[in-house]
Amino acid sequence: MRTITVVGASLAGLYAARELRAQGYDGRLVIIGDEPHPPYDRPPLSKDFLTGKADEAQLALSDDEESDELAAEWLLGVRARGLDPRGRTVLLDDGRTIASDGVVIATGASARRLPGPSLAPGPSLAGVHTLRTLDDARALRGELTGAPRRVVVIGGGFIGAETASSCAALGHDVTVVEAAPLPLLAQLGADMAAVCAGLHARGGAELVTGTGVAALHGDTAVRGVELADGRLLPADVVVVGIGATPNTGWLAGSTLALDDGVLCDDGCVTALPHVVAVGDVARVGGARAEHWTSATEQPRVAVRNLLAGRTTETVRPLPYFWSDQYGSRIQFAGRRRADDTVRLIEGSPEEGSFLAAYEREGHTTAVLAMDRPRPFMRMRRGLLAPAPVAA
Ligand code: FAD
Repeated sequence: MRTITVVGASLAGLYAARELRAQGYDGRLVIIGDEPHPPYDRPPLSKDFLTGKADEAQLALSDDEESDELAAEWLLGVRARGLDPRGRTVLLDDGRTIASDGVVIATGASARRLPGPSLAPGPSLAGVHTLRTLDDARALRGELTGAPRRVVVIGGGFIGAETASSCAALGHDVTVVEAAPLPLLAQLGADMAAVCAGLHARGGAELVTGTGVAALHGDTAVRGVELADGRLLPADVVVVGIGATPNTGWLAGSTLALDDGVLCDDGCVTALPHVVAVGDVARVGGARAEHWTSATEQPRVAVRNLLAGRTTETVRPLPYFWSDQYGSRIQFAGRRRADDTVRLIEGSPEEGSFLAAYEREGHTTAVLAMDRPRPFMRMRRGLLAPAPVAA
């Protein structure tokens, strides 16, 4: 291979570039990113960056020295708008084309927006934000410095909860609106979702559940959020945290299978052996993860297979994520099903620190911890270990 193009200049794209060089690829390496910024880390955007504890320099994922070592052509601030049906040419928004022998798709995901014109955040209604990019975080942070404001966070998932926690820490008046009966219900199940929901009250934020949002009110700037049950929440700032959608639009004219992400086999390889996908955009072996750890683990295997020209290795996906809310660290690893039972292993929700296992037919399927990092990591390693083989 003489030219490999990585599309998406963020976490998974950077890790793929590192792997290409680490695994001996010494040809031309082109990295395309539609954001103007060099790769930066997103998790702090809703945490320390929002509260002002971390600055932009601390978000950087790479430095000049590494940039020299990678010897890549960085095309930043340029969007890829297509991949030809053979997967050999990447088309750019500015009219350029990159002939490629291999392509790594690492275009991640974008914040989902509220449907409908009265709900859509945008320049028409100031004060309405999403939080996915550095530019989003800069804009939101700008609104949060100064006098206390009334903040409504729509969506009680991880990013919504972290944003609420950061806003409350800054002294703002925070309400979280969650359409489901409990936030994080699908991810954690009712018992543990209730424990996490309790963190909002502990941190001084109000939680409204079981009702969606009907409309945003305001002329030029948002003034309030109307709930589906008719209540009106006054608001100066609204943060929409209702999930993310994979960035596959630019691949519409390609021959790749797209369905909630780029469909890949267990080794991150698409239907074209010289095109692989990694990170939030990749649906690997039927599952798509939106977790930092997946975006950093998949590139090693994807690059190995890309350079081999076929799938020689597969990823062993064990979803893992962490979240920091109201001074507590939540960690989760594994795959739980709705009917798994939960067992407390140590600590208790009352003391604000515990380790719990999800179980099915005598096996541990997933593990959840709040402020118990060491035992959590031990159990996580146990989940990763190969199952014992009968003698
Ligand atoms: P992304 O980071 O989304 O990067 C994709 C890049 O590709 C972007 O720069 C995008 O602009 C660019 N791009 C898209 N389309 C094109 C195109 N057509 N042409 C060129 N470039 C394009 N995970 C955890 O496990 N724990 C956490 O605590 C946690 N906190 C988070 C907090 C926030 C606020 C956010 C937003 C995410 C958080 N995550 C967390 C998730 C984690 O950051 C993501 O899983 C990770 O960023 C995925 O990396 P990625 O490179 O696949 O995608």
